Amino acid sequence: MIVDPHRLERGLAAVFANAGMAADDAAVTARHLVEADLRGHPSHGVGLMPGYVAAMRAGEMRLDARLTVVRDDGPLVLLDAGSGPGQPMAHAATALAIERAGRHGLAAVGLRDAYHIGRIGHWAEQCAAAGLVSLHVVNVPTRAVVVPHGGAAARLGTNPFTAAFPRRGAEPIVVDFATSRWAMGKMRVAMAKGETVPDGYLLDADGRPTGDPSVMFRTPLGALLPFGEHKGSALALAVELLAGALLGGFTQSGASIASVTNSMLTIAFDPAALAGADAYAERVEALAAWVATDPGVLLPGDPERARRSAAMAGGLSVDPATWNEMAAAAASVGVADLLATDGRDP
Ligand code: NAD
Repeated sequence: MIVDPHRLERGLAAVFANAGMAADDAAVTARHLVEADLRGHPSHGVGLMPGYVAAMRAGEMRLDARLTVVRDDGPLVLLDAGSGPGQPMAHAATALAIERAGRHGLAAVGLRDAYHIGRIGHWAEQCAAAGLVSLHVVNVPTRAVVVPHGGAAARLGTNPFTAAFPRRGAEPIVVDFATSRWAMGKMRVAMAKGETVPDGYLLDADGRPTGDPSVMFRTPLGALLPFGEHKGSALALAVELLAGALLGGFTQSGASIASVTNSMLTIAFDPAALAGADAYAERVEALAAWVATDPGVLLPGDPERARRSAAMAGGLSVDPATWNEMAAAAASVGVADLLATDGRDP
């Protein structure tokens, strides 16, 4: 299916609102999922909608949750999401980090125990658009899916690491990846397309290498391998400690949680408060020019922007199995046509 992203965004917002989300939250969530697909990360895109609707119905995404302030001390803020809708709460937490970094030069904002907050690069781009450098670490304590280096059984989450760097007169550098070789959602997409996974990404439930993504959707569960061998495994552990233990939210320990849970620690810096705005911008541009001299070298964030331009021009592609699931979930909350248009762009 090739679909118009604007129409699909409106359709998704209608689905989420019909399923009980506040209209503003539904719009933020729909925009986020469409943006993830546009940027070439369908693992975090519109195909998540049926799961979100099911989670709302099951009470795993708590629509009555309010963002609670646990600590508010100048640049240091800790928020508890109480399993509330992830994207709206991450958007609010990021806006707060931007406001505090503007005031103090830096901010550390913890958002603990939200429902799934999606593609983390989205929150880094929100900071970069405000002129801030930011780091984001996120844990996924729902259940262990990543095997630590040297092991055979899953013990960690896919724990993404993300950082963005605004540029003067150019789009930001956005470093945004799971600490597993592939994000878990890519297994769902591979399975929906009937594809196998390359060697070195997956173990089956007996700890043997496999290319079959369905091992991640069966009991007993297989495991994703960390990227970069011992280094990715160590980074995944550090992310778990920072986003889980340090914020006091759910942290991997062997228990599984029904709700798809994310905690995010955001650290944002105003370059004007450190190097100075001009000195920072000069150095970033010099470094970018130096690193990306060879024609084959891209800067992080470039692939996503290229894919977004192509999808805005040619339409957004959704595989048939995912589309059928989306249509069924939409119909279940009274949205008969996900692409119905009222003539307005969102
Ligand atoms: P990935 O392997 O596609 O890596 C993406 C990163 O690598 C981007 O920064 C991209 O710009 C950069 N990149 C790609 N090709 C490049 C090249 N040739 N040169 C330079 N840089 C290049 O990403 P992934 O690990 O599959 O993660 C996908 C998404 O999943 C991310 O957006 C992440 O935030 C998200 N995620 C979310 C959760 C969650 O629980 N919410 C968990 C894990 C991952």
